[in-house]
Amino acid sequence: GGAFPTAAAAAENGTRKVIPLSRDALQDFMLSIITQKLQDEKQPFYVLDLGEVVSLMDQWKSALPNIRPFYAVKCNPEPSFLSILSAMGSNFDCASRAEIEYVLSLGISPDRIVFANPCKPESDIIFAAKVGVNLTTYDSEDEVYKIRKHHPKSELLLRIKPMLDGNARCPMGPKYGALPEEVDPLLRAAQTARLTVSGVSFHIGSGDADSNAYLGAIAAAKEVFETAAKLGMSKMTVLDVGGGFTSGHQFTTAAVAVKSALKQHFDDEPGLAIIAEPGRFFAETAFTLATTIIGKRVRGELREYWINDGLYGSMNCVLYDHATVNATPLAVLSNRSNVTCGRSKTFPTTVFGPTCDALDTVLRDYQLPELQVNDWLVFPNMGAYTKAAGSNFNGFNTSAIVTHLAYSYPS
Ligand code: PLP
Repeated sequence: GGAFPTAAAAAENGTRKVIPLSRDALQDFMLSIITQKLQDEKQPFYVLDLGEVVSLMDQWKSALPNIRPFYAVKCNPEPSFLSILSAMGSNFDCASRAEIEYVLSLGISPDRIVFANPCKPESDIIFAAKVGVNLTTYDSEDEVYKIRKHHPKSELLLRIKPMLDGNARCPMGPKYGALPEEVDPLLRAAQTARLTVSGVSFHIGSGDADSNAYLGAIAAAKEVFETAAKLGMSKMTVLDVGGGFTSGHQFTTAAVAVKSALKQHFDDEPGLAIIAEPGRFFAETAFTLATTIIGKRVRGELREYWINDGLYGSMNCVLYDHATVNATPLAVLSNRSNVTCGRSKTFPTTVFGPTCDALDTVLRDYQLPELQVNDWLVFPNMGAYTKAAGSNFNGFNTSAIVTHLAYSYPS
């Protein structure tokens, strides 16, 4: 393991393929960061595993070779992560002017961005026009009027609401997507405004979404293509299957569902560009969070610890993303042989975040060995919808948490 000077250089270093860090390699990397004092001992930090990102991109390309990913920046806008994804050929889904600015500042060209927010501030549409981001989504007539006024060159994707919602932890249907009866009027509105509708997008919902939802959504998208053809609009060329992918066995199932629906409904569309907006798939498992124990209280058997990140910071995912988090202690740093990862007697434990709000409780009824102030507690799979949505509440500044890039080669 180690740190490359730049993420892009690492990703492009094609001579030896990086692989995901083993548990031990990750532990060693974190210990080396801490002991070499590359990390302020008082602050939490993230480790971004380059090999994991490489592996996820390989999995994507082999399972969905004809679907071009536009990584959803909102999920985790860490610049080194965006650079790695860019170097591996990903494009980007941006939700705002600021996200477009992050991506452009990395030297990525505007034609690799979809402005996939169906309801944008006028100022952001003006900005997209200025920098040449010419593809966006819509699901209301008012959006058509705003785009006609400020960015008539922009092509549109009609965002539809999937018929069968994916029953995801974070459903999108209650907020976004045209209903079936709204498709015709929304296409006509764009036609009247002389805007080009180049395709259809949808999102089945994020986090543990039911892959079957892709089937209905892709079938509904085909109906939109047919309606547009009936209205005499120019031929649609883009199908955007959105996000909702989770890595692991769920991804395999999702890829099968997407491919079979595409075969059924879009086999007769030569020249169709199929894109997706995965966020969680690439981000979740690539990041590990290390926190320090800043306080301790013993109440009988119960051990209570305060750590320096919490529900108002990275662990906001517990509230907003309906996630559950897991923690393991980082092996002994201070020559105390009684604290070794998972080996010693465990106690029922509560882990609090650092703010003065009792809601800020990260883990309850959790088993951990006895730990001390200044020990490190590590949270795996913390890349998706974590740091991105954290606050500065009580002065604990989530956006200031540093990310250290790690990589390892096969031995
Ligand atoms: N695209 C859009 C428009 C979204 O709103 C989101 C998530 O909120 C995503 C893509 C990413 O979704 P996921 O993380 O489930 O892949």
